[in-house]
Amino acid sequence: MNTSEFCKTFNLLDFVREHLEGHQPFSMSLEDFVVTFHDVGIIEFKPKHESQQYLALSAGVHGNETAPMEIVSDMVYDLLNGRLNLRCHLLVLIGHPQAMLKEQRFLDFNLNRMFNGEWKKYWEQKEEICEVERAKRLEQAMNDFFAQSCANDTRAHYDLHTAIRASKYQKFAIYPYLDSREHNPAVLNLMQDCGVNTILLYHKPSTVFSYYSSHNFKADSITVELGKVKPFGENNRDDFADAEKALRQLVESSYSYDHSTRYKVKGQKVFKVKQELLRVSDDSHLNVDDDLANFSSFEKGFELLSDPEEPYIVEKDGEAIVFPNNNVPIGQRMALVVEEVE
Ligand SMILES: [Zn+2]
Repeated sequence: MNTSEFCKTFNLLDFVREHLEGHQPFSMSLEDFVVTFHDVGIIEFKPKHESQQYLALSAGVHGNETAPMEIVSDMVYDLLNGRLNLRCHLLVLIGHPQAMLKEQRFLDFNLNRMFNGEWKKYWEQKEEICEVERAKRLEQAMNDFFAQSCANDTRAHYDLHTAIRASKYQKFAIYPYLDSREHNPAVLNLMQDCGVNTILLYHKPSTVFSYYSSHNFKADSITVELGKVKPFGENNRDDFADAEKALRQLVESSYSYDHSTRYKVKGQKVFKVKQELLRVSDDSHLNVDDDLANFSSFEKGFELLSDPEEPYIVEKDGEAIVFPNNNVPIGQRMALVVEEVE
């Protein structure tokens, strides 16, 4: 098959399904860029003109979160067929091909709890936990990609998800902990362009993919929840139109991540973590349902967490909860209490 035939008939998701066990890397030179298929679900576009921007887009780190995979698959098709212009270095990742095939969140272990080297703890069990090798492979792909950038280049990573749980605000993003760096207003502005009006600023290092790229490469990274989980083909793409448009603009034009950018957004809600509620005893109990919508808020005085020793009583009107879960062992997180920042 020649290059133009390959491009015309290419479908990223089908290609991934057909190469689950991986494939030999191969490259093609097109008019404006060289595209390299490094491995299953790992594709790099290198522009032929100079660019100081490195953009990584990952989708399907959870295999049942189909809409973002459809979005990046269409973008890849349009790049290959000259319908979308490339103005940056671009890495496209389909996170978890095997879970994607089965349309499951994960097979053995939540892949988005395995980054930043967390997979090393499970390396001995890699035969039983298929996510171990994939986490390692994705980190390697990220390393190889950003290693090509220079100090003054901009690096960004958008890890695209859809949520299982209801959320008071359907689209929201989790800005990973930045160590000693400051939040970049350009990222928040871009989120607004994506239709994401709610941001949670995470408070500590973690094992999610966006923290990996942020921490290791000082990338402008963020985990984006674009809406509800639905099977392939059942997504209403209109619900994702803003995000799709903004991501395409990002690829097509030179988006500025300059820290001097002004935060232009009005009406975006930004939350920070006020407290992590841990299970301290067998009697710890959240007084909300586990399926309560994220960002549901409470009035001052509500006993959110009952525990004989360490209850949590809501201290201020408007404190909200994310990720409530009563079924965790002692010492683990039952929920995050968040509050809005000005
Ligand atoms: Zn997800």
